[in-house]
Amino acid sequence: MDKTVIKMAKKKRIALIAHDNRKIDLLEWAKYNRELLAKHDLFGTGTTGGLIENELKIKVTKFRSGPFGGDLQTGAKIAEGEIDFLIFFWDPLEPMPHDPDVKALLRIAVVYNIPVACNRASADFIISSNLMSSEYSRSLIDYKERITRVEGNSIYIR
Ligand code: PGA
Repeated sequence: MDKTVIKMAKKKRIALIAHDNRKIDLLEWAKYNRELLAKHDLFGTGTTGGLIENELKIKVTKFRSGPFGGDLQTGAKIAEGEIDFLIFFWDPLEPMPHDPDVKALLRIAVVYNIPVACNRASADFIISSNLMSSEYSRSLIDYKERITRVEGNSIYIR
């Protein structure tokens, strides 16, 4: 299968999102890693982004709040190649009205092969990677080969 390669620059574009019960944990993590995060471009859903901006005094580009489309906006930016990795502390103990959006975001992050951390340990490993300060080429699977068009407009994905 052919691969498309997307170059990630030294300066990463990082999306930060946390559900309400996970916001304190993400804020603590972000404060602890402030110096490193300040070297990159930060994005976030409305409430999470605002909290991080206030605490860290670093500019965060804010999307809408998660339940009002912020997760989907983040996913769209990933699809457009404008987000390099995702720190998403989602709540494993509570159903959300926007669970479909959460699933869509996590799915699109896999499709575009970006690093994703859904808990603090994973975020620690990602942020302490040598790749944080270097360029990185991430390869995308070419899904075109798995799409077959049959009978007019119907598209089947094998
Ligand atoms: P919020 O959204 O940062 O606006 O709270 C997060 C989410 O619920 O996905």
